[in-house]
Amino acid sequence: MKIKVHDKHFAPYLDEATLQQRIKELAKQISDDLEGTKPLFIGILNGSFMFAADLFKYLSIEAEISFIKLASYKGTKSTGNVITAIGLEEDLYGRTVVIVEDIVDTGKTLSQFLPQLEHQQPKQLLVASLLNKPDAMTHKVQIDYLGFTVPNKFLLGYGLDYDGLGRNLPEIYQLTD
Ligand code: 5GP
Repeated sequence: MKIKVHDKHFAPYLDEATLQQRIKELAKQISDDLEGTKPLFIGILNGSFMFAADLFKYLSIEAEISFIKLASYKGTKSTGNVITAIGLEEDLYGRTVVIVEDIVDTGKTLSQFLPQLEHQQPKQLLVASLLNKPDAMTHKVQIDYLGFTVPNKFLLGYGLDYDGLGRNLPEIYQLTD
């Protein structure tokens, strides 16, 4: 059923069962790959909170989770916009780290942020993203665990918002107008 959020209409795109099934598969794959490494999952707020929670719940291995916010501020002329992490307290040195994102769109955010984490010399730095829009990608980001490849249209629900609303929807919708 179509829904209206603020002034826009959205049509169902990925239902709850499809999402949960795919997230279980990802959790199984991650559990198989990272068994014994006690990985640290880092969820990027706000968008990833539902995906991170479900993915983490379905893991069958020992693991830690933490959440951060990314803030973008105007740097100098040469640096352009700079991304900085708020709330990152863990020491990543020598650890297996899995960054958990809701969606990789242009790739700009992660392509700027991942090199900053590399400075801390984690043993492995992996990316799990529920969604990816390859047609929108302008900055190459390697996604190690991907839920769904999606078309270049605005999505809502399951953590993703439109101007603050829609994050609580258990399924994902696509903008129609
Ligand atoms: P990127 O730097 O890859 O272009 O942007 C990634 C961020 O943009 C995501 O973490 C998400 O917060 C936001 N974003 C990208 N595409 C969508 C979309 O279709 N819907 C919503 N709600 N947010 C999006």
